[in-house]
Amino acid sequence: MKIIGIPALVGSYDNYIWVLYQDADAWVIDPGESQQIIDFLTQHHLMLQGILITHHHFDHTDGIATLKQHYPTATVFGPQKTKNPFIQVRLKEKDTIPLFNDFILTVLDTPGHTPDHISYYNEQALFCADTLFTAGCGRLLGGTIEEFSQSLLKLRALPDATPFYCAHEYTEDNLNFAIQVEPNNPILQRRLADFSTQYPAPLTHSQGQLKTEKETNPFLRFDCPEIKQQLLKRGAEDSPASLFKTLRDWKDQYDQQS
Ligand SMILES: [Zn+2]
Repeated sequence: MKIIGIPALVGSYDNYIWVLYQDADAWVIDPGESQQIIDFLTQHHLMLQGILITHHHFDHTDGIATLKQHYPTATVFGPQKTKNPFIQVRLKEKDTIPLFNDFILTVLDTPGHTPDHISYYNEQALFCADTLFTAGCGRLLGGTIEEFSQSLLKLRALPDATPFYCAHEYTEDNLNFAIQVEPNNPILQRRLADFSTQYPAPLTHSQGQLKTEKETNPFLRFDCPEIKQQLLKRGAEDSPASLFKTLRDWKDQYDQQS
């Protein structure tokens, strides 16, 4: 089984559409566009078996209609709460989807970015879309602070070696913010120094392992001593929700300035 990240909405939202394929079968996750997916599937003689959706935002769903025209037998899976007329199979926590014989994904509820957000997981891959990014996390666009902080802690509890696939290429901006939050983290310093992005070239590998995020992503570290101290100074209370909120607000202010 292979996984490739195909860039979409380049220059505006900078998404990745993840394509999983084996033999003649393929699945796609969050198609915000369709033409580059149809081109890829055609070139590789692949038949689209299914589409997985993580949440309702258009940059994750706008490609579905055209994909369904080209591949009418492909089944569309999505969250129970998502309002989208194309979703045929509604998913909730712990539901499983067999993509290939030896590759089954399990649904994790990860609300916060939006109330309907889910992630897809097994030990070989975590597809967490706009919940967790490389060195950052999604913005709060409809979910609650409480939900979002718990979703991040839920992802942090997954095994270190889990390969990790998010839905946007915001690594550079996220690393520049992360180093302000935690300037003395040597692993983060090295990550920033080593950073180079291939975007918008297609990726043939994952965006890394969860271990790297646990070691360097401030949104998985808001309760670690050095970061927590800074957040308490910025007015946070000592609870995951309040620490996360203070950090998320800080990032939003940083985004407005940069
Ligand atoms: Zn989104």
